[in-house]
Amino acid sequence: MLFQLSLLVKSMNKDKIKIINADITKLDVDAIVNAANQALCGGGGVDGAIHRAAGPELLDVCKTLGGCNTGLAKRTPGFNLAASHIIHTVGPVWYGGHKNEEDLLASCYLETLKLASIHNVKSIAFPAISTGAYRFPIKKACDIAIKTIVEYLSSDNQLERVLLVCFDAKIERQYQKLLVIK
Ligand code: ADP
Repeated sequence: MLFQLSLLVKSMNKDKIKIINADITKLDVDAIVNAANQALCGGGGVDGAIHRAAGPELLDVCKTLGGCNTGLAKRTPGFNLAASHIIHTVGPVWYGGHKNEEDLLASCYLETLKLASIHNVKSIAFPAISTGAYRFPIKKACDIAIKTIVEYLSSDNQLERVLLVCFDAKIERQYQKLLVIK
């Protein structure tokens, strides 16, 4: 699996994907992704950090969006952020793998990328969706993130840069394993 993924990454657009250790709210990209909750009402973790950095107008707009189902995505402006867009996606809570969690996580990445394309986004930064409070196993979450992004990039000519933002050393190591080409 790891080997196949590595080959896939090598053959397609590997240079467009970068792993970085950063606070996602500080990044100068067209769009950042929020690991939101279904109510889109702000919360802890990366969601709380994004709301604090974007300012109170973000919550005002989020309240008009009617929430968001797990696996889907909705867009708002970035307000006080350098990023013009925030794409809010709702990752699955991990319940042991029997509630379609893997497909739902892949759907978060795919729906976010499709929405980014609609808004002409050239650079986008993802946090490791569902790997915090939602307890998704890190290895599986990183595999799904990379596989879905690589597949998407193979049929997209618009996105120039995808940042995988790590706030945790374990996640950074896992992404690096997947992207290292010997
Ligand atoms: P979820 O509920 O989807 O699990 P969390 O916010 O709890 O969302 O965590 C998702 C990931 O975001 C975790 O890997 C966490 O370490 C990371 N994270 C938290 N704050 C930030 C931040 N400011 N920038 C980038 N990543 C962050």
